[in-house]
Amino acid sequence: MGLEGRFERPIHWSVQLTELEQRVAREIESRAHDLLEDLRLHVSIPTGGNNQQAIEETRERFGIRLQELGAKTHMVPGDAKPEWLQGDQHDYYTPPTVVSERLCGATENRVLIAGHLDTVHDPEGDFQDLSIAPDGKTAVGPGCVDMKGGLVIAVAALEALEACGVAANWTFTMNADEETGTYHSEQALIDEARKHDYGIALEPALPGGELAIERVGSGQFMIEVEGRSAHVGRAFTEGVSAVVRLAECIQASAQFPEPERGKILNIGPIKGGVATNAVPDSAFAWGNVRFADQAIADELAVQLDALQTAPDAMPRVRVHRSFNRPAKPQIPETERLALSARAVAEALGQTLPFAKTGGVCDGNVLQNAGLPTIDTLGVRGGGLHTKDEWIDLTSLVERCQLLAILIARLSAGGSAAL
Ligand SMILES: [Zn+2]
Repeated sequence: MGLEGRFERPIHWSVQLTELEQRVAREIESRAHDLLEDLRLHVSIPTGGNNQQAIEETRERFGIRLQELGAKTHMVPGDAKPEWLQGDQHDYYTPPTVVSERLCGATENRVLIAGHLDTVHDPEGDFQDLSIAPDGKTAVGPGCVDMKGGLVIAVAALEALEACGVAANWTFTMNADEETGTYHSEQALIDEARKHDYGIALEPALPGGELAIERVGSGQFMIEVEGRSAHVGRAFTEGVSAVVRLAECIQASAQFPEPERGKILNIGPIKGGVATNAVPDSAFAWGNVRFADQAIADELAVQLDALQTAPDAMPRVRVHRSFNRPAKPQIPETERLALSARAVAEALGQTLPFAKTGGVCDGNVLQNAGLPTIDTLGVRGGGLHTKDEWIDLTSLVERCQLLAILIARLSAGGSAAL
């Protein structure tokens, strides 16, 4: 059955804005210029490439504003990432997760707002600033939708609620490793998810402005082969090629994907050998899997593990894997949350279609920890992870209004709210 048929009414209710909600919406509209300037500022702070200085500056700028709203803030140190995932980086910065929490006794529910500070863009590349199109409707810039725009509107939404005297219980988490798999911050997010009633992640809307209500899961793996080196000319037959064995493993794993079932496996990059005249004694392949549900994740895990050999085999094959982003299936609690967001959008004169996506995000982690989460409540745009990343600038005000009123309604619980 379709989403619409299954639930007759969202959690809340009013298809019209209350007077106070209308005030909040007007307050945000009056801040349109500030939203754009804040976006310009944050896009120009290059938080890609695990750039510590920029990540710290961004965290500080947003953190101060949340503290001014009365939030208590603490940092959760980052956990270690599995060695095999780190490649050759040794002086790797392990970013902490900042948790800013504002409790106000007057309301019933706690809303967790999750944002990530990092982008995928090279901090030293030529894609650095926000550049606005001549018609003023769109702009391009690194991280403008993924997710500087989302962070900017979320902080502004909370400020507008405060300015209008609307009480809300919220916690805002900001990690800085979402784009690289949330290895350092996963436990911090899980711990917060368990203390909250509703989750909101600030990923950009899907291309048509849709809310993602279902996501696949994702994982990383590495196939490591150990062979025996030998001089190609003098002792070729004594060698055991790790590269040849790796190639066999790659061929075997190329049979695993069944995209029509939501079972995907990709291999690359690969690495092996040091010189053409030496039989290679080591070879590596890194890869990514996507899965529609846990059963498919388990299937992939079994198939990958079956590539392994006994520890004393020659060549020896080992598989390292970390399927750390569980699938985010459509569940009734999240559907209700999505319908509540739609009710707010419609009260604001907006539309909010629903869709599925093959992308993954921290919403997967939060929902898997038991927190109903909608994770595409950031701004609208496209070209994510490319130099064409763009934002629909009208979405700054619209999505900020949607967020603010949704947070207020969720926080107020079922008790008629504002
Ligand atoms: Zn993102």
